[in-house]
Amino acid sequence: MNSAPLELLRRGEFLCPACGARQAWSDTCRRCRCNLDLFHRTAAARLETWQRCLRRLTAGDAAAALVAAEQGYALAPTHEAARLLAMCRLVNRDFSGALALHPRANSSPEPEGDAPATAPRYTY
Ligand SMILES: [Zn+2]
Repeated sequence: MNSAPLELLRRGEFLCPACGARQAWSDTCRRCRCNLDLFHRTAAARLETWQRCLRRLTAGDAAAALVAAEQGYALAPTHEAARLLAMCRLVNRDFSGALALHPRANSSPEPEGDAPATAPRYTY
């Protein structure tokens, strides 16, 4: 939980957003040669918001957790990001806001899943 986002990301595999090739961390796709720098930076920012949200929740700072969850959802409005944001809205007693996320939060996860438990898989 305290590892830097980029270090965690480098441990995992990801799918190239351009061609779908599964591969280890790389700044260039092994198959299509796509530059993945921006993709990786976005994924690192997403993981950072996820970690910050959980740390704030653990510390009892619901308002700061909500800010982090909103930032993470803005970066990648995935199933898991919607669930985290909905939970933060509930903790902040924003019941209608949490309910508004229900369709997305209760939808099927992305094909490869998208929950960054320790290091996220990057399937958007
Ligand atoms: Zn590729």
